[in-house]
Amino acid sequence: MADYFETETQLSELKRCVDRHAHTLDHPTLPSQDSIRAAEASLPSSQSASYLAGAPAEAVVGHITRDILPALSGQGRSGRYYGFVTGGVLPVSQWADGVVSHMDQNVQVHLPAQTVATAVEDRALEMLASLLGLPGGGWPGRTLTTGATGSNVLGLACGREAVLARRLGGDDGAVGELGILGACARAGVEEIQVLTSAGHSSLSKAASVVGLGRQSVKELRLSDEEPWRLDFAALEEHLKRPRTASIIAISAGEVNTGRYGTYGLEEMKRVRALADQYGAWIHVDGAFGIFARVLEANDEYKLLHERVAGLELADSITVDGHKILNVPYDCGMFFTRSLSTLQNVFVNPNAAYLASSSAATIPSPLNVGLENSRRFRALPAYAALLSEGRPGFANLVSNMVQLSRRLAAFLRDSNDYELLPNADLDEIFIIVLFRAKSPELNARLVEEINQTRQMYVSGTAWKGEKAVRIAVSNWKVDVERDFKVVTAILAAVAEGRPFDIATVE
Ligand SMILES: *Cc1c(COP(=O)(O)O)cnc(C)c1O
Repeated sequence: MADYFETETQLSELKRCVDRHAHTLDHPTLPSQDSIRAAEASLPSSQSASYLAGAPAEAVVGHITRDILPALSGQGRSGRYYGFVTGGVLPVSQWADGVVSHMDQNVQVHLPAQTVATAVEDRALEMLASLLGLPGGGWPGRTLTTGATGSNVLGLACGREAVLARRLGGDDGAVGELGILGACARAGVEEIQVLTSAGHSSLSKAASVVGLGRQSVKELRLSDEEPWRLDFAALEEHLKRPRTASIIAISAGEVNTGRYGTYGLEEMKRVRALADQYGAWIHVDGAFGIFARVLEANDEYKLLHERVAGLELADSITVDGHKILNVPYDCGMFFTRSLSTLQNVFVNPNAAYLASSSAATIPSPLNVGLENSRRFRALPAYAALLSEGRPGFANLVSNMVQLSRRLAAFLRDSNDYELLPNADLDEIFIIVLFRAKSPELNARLVEEINQTRQMYVSGTAWKGEKAVRIAVSNWKVDVERDFKVVTAILAAVAEGRPFDIATVE
């Protein structure tokens, strides 16, 4: 393996990791329209004589470098790509990702005499659980997924399995063996509902995938003012419905505002008590929001810590890797307290050649997740956790919060813009929602901002009107510099002036 580390590019990559803050601050967040058009025109045409005729590797590399690379969006290279919630890539994780491809390690069966890969995965998941304050040993069901959507599919699949198994009695499994129709018929269940507040769109997708249907997702929002908060009275009403089984899905970090479905330990205890009383499963979608738990416990972050308290009372939790953890796409994590439920859903049965030893302490990944063969997805996350540790992640996330709060204060005090919802800055995690006070400007605000190519935002709606969200999630965040650039862009846009990054000191 030494050859891999001795190659010139690998050594320079390593040096870059050591000097991890040596980055170009003002890399554009978006390519120009021209480079996108040129790249599209450079793609092979089925009309051309050379179509699929083959080409030397140098020509392929040249084409990708020259044509395609300049036409990709810059979430990895710029810290000011604030669309969606994308994160960036820590250099050490990028390097580890290269090792993953280089070795082409398949993670499928736990084969401790042949590879350390499953042990690394398991240790990385344990470290992440510890970082997020999920008590050690309490989360034996855990695996790597392709992202939070994948993890939400696992969460609803486990919930579906457990709520029916409970009604059927015994540990023989339910839907995994009998199918959803068979299990529901035997259990006398006519509906499985997913009860949430401001649930992520992927929750509905997951409900469709696991056979519950998008209409099973019910929004129990406390009020128009606080749509992210779970309405407990409505929750209990729904749980009481006869011949109905329930999965409670807590939005721990809602994408429009970054706010939380429950407001602390007491509320989570109430959810737990209701779930136990009515035989429901609690799934937490903490894709990015759960990372508030890595912040230092000081006055500035006291309220955020309160908001994310008690999430460990859930039955399953979604965590995203390619967002705040800042590892490359695609990577997500899933944790559940019930390994047997996870196995009852995902076991890959009756394949003797895929068996691990009976004394294995780590479950084979193919029996606890969607894929059989898959990428060694844990290594870049392992590298990030090892390299940053608790202090590194506390600092990294704190920078994101600091920039978000400074921007929120700027918007709140601005004549041209309005901070939404008008809240205590202490509630702000990494998402800032706002709109222009002028309806004309507001209608084209997202376009005007993104046209500068120096920051990127996504549009959304707030109370039926257009709004803009800034989601800060890149490790490259530079609070002082980014604050200057973003506020200069917002000022230029409000005054209808063109923006030139060279004018920002
Ligand atoms: C991003 C996100 C998802 C979907 O995650 P992917 O990684 O894009 O699959 C789900 N839930 C929440 C709260 C998210 O922020």
